[in-house]
Amino acid sequence: MQFPNRTKIVATLGPASRGKIAQLMRAGVDVFRLNTAHCDPPTLTKDVADIRRVAKALKRHVGVLVDLQGPKIRLGPFANAEPIFIRRGERLVLSVAPGVIGRAGHGSEPTRLGCRYRGLADDVRRGERILLDDGYMELRVESVEGTEVITRVVHGGLLKQYKGINLPGSAVSASPMTARDISDLAVALEAGADFIALSFVRCAGDVRALSRRIKAAGSDAQVIAKIERQAAIDDLPAIVEAADGIMVARGDMGVELGAENVPALQKRIIRACVEARKPVITATQMLESMITNPRPTRAEASDVANAIYDGTSAVMLSAETATGKHPVRAVQIMDRIVRSSENDLFVGFEHTRLRRKLTGETSVALATVRAAAYAALDVGARAIAVFTESGRTATLMAGERTATPVYAFSPHWRTVQRLSLVWGVCAMKVSHFRTSREMTLDGERQLLSRRLLRKGDRLVVVRGSIRESGLTNTMYIRTLGERG
Ligand code: PEP
Repeated sequence: MQFPNRTKIVATLGPASRGKIAQLMRAGVDVFRLNTAHCDPPTLTKDVADIRRVAKALKRHVGVLVDLQGPKIRLGPFANAEPIFIRRGERLVLSVAPGVIGRAGHGSEPTRLGCRYRGLADDVRRGERILLDDGYMELRVESVEGTEVITRVVHGGLLKQYKGINLPGSAVSASPMTARDISDLAVALEAGADFIALSFVRCAGDVRALSRRIKAAGSDAQVIAKIERQAAIDDLPAIVEAADGIMVARGDMGVELGAENVPALQKRIIRACVEARKPVITATQMLESMITNPRPTRAEASDVANAIYDGTSAVMLSAETATGKHPVRAVQIMDRIVRSSENDLFVGFEHTRLRRKLTGETSVALATVRAAAYAALDVGARAIAVFTESGRTATLMAGERTATPVYAFSPHWRTVQRLSLVWGVCAMKVSHFRTSREMTLDGERQLLSRRLLRKGDRLVVVRGSIRESGLTNTMYIRTLGERG
């Protein structure tokens, strides 16, 4: 058996992929993302149950990430859910009246689309720009008449229902948790989501508020903060500290901050997360052309690879798997790019890519994992085995970015699922044992029986001398099959 990819793959589930969960898992999905912007509560509950059922049948552990849509302004539904082609120069009416169904114009009737944000008609002024579908299409406001915003199409294209609307330059002060998000959160936690992503985060306080809500609901789901606004960039260090993980949400970021600024911001955010040893997901348009084409462009393959070279923990597919024509193939291609980039990354690094400088930050657990990473290099260990209750020690280990395969063992399903987002860690469940020694032996047995390692292989073990979270203090070197 081969050690899995270090960089994890997040795939968004949607109409194109709901019936293909097993194929997607086999193709390499580590975490499924469910976007509440596009699924109602019963669908969300069913999706989580389906993912868990398939994972159990395939004996895999995958994570489930529920992405709360936040105060995103969206178009309403279209007649028969058919896309509408909007042409440069045509008049287009955006109506905030309730219940408007989008229809293409004909004769003297302009195209009329519904908008789910009642405040739109108050927020925009004559001459202002309105961007649609991540900025692909642009409208210019001509006038506002009651509940109708009359616009002229500046850049047209094929528009799908429920696509996002951005008002560039407008200072959005709304809290990232809308009433709808609060009820979606309850559904997601009840269904057992591992990660909750928060859109349009403004500051660390937004992240802490969501963490408190999750705890109050009796859940230990982790918070992923989506960075897509200038305010979040300004408070980045505090947000990285407050969140369990970060998403570089390049779609809205590109619209809000300019596409030309996305590459530099992506690098800065990834660097901050690697330093802080927090998972970071690089998201949106990674293999965009595969929504329709069976192959990615060279630029897309390079984009995925560059995020890996930057040190991202995970790469994400959105419409490619949710609504695209080739959802399974998109994951397979992503998997191949990850594999090829990682192979290249580790060439010339003498079996390791340790790159972390000793910083002021220290703890017994951190000193132990650092020692283990270097020891593995020194003795040519085939793997490092980390025994972890909460997943924290495995996450610390991932921060070393070592090329030595890291297997993490935990007696808790929740921890194993959560490690699906952590770079370079292949997590497995061990039985509940009283002592850490018994647990270690069970882990070693699994490595041998799954043919991941052989007798005679060197293994570096990291664990606590007693079995309790936060007490990692031991690392030692074993030769499998030998006493001691
Ligand atoms: C993004 O904007 O890049 C993103 C991931 O968020 P969403 O898909 O919810 O717009």
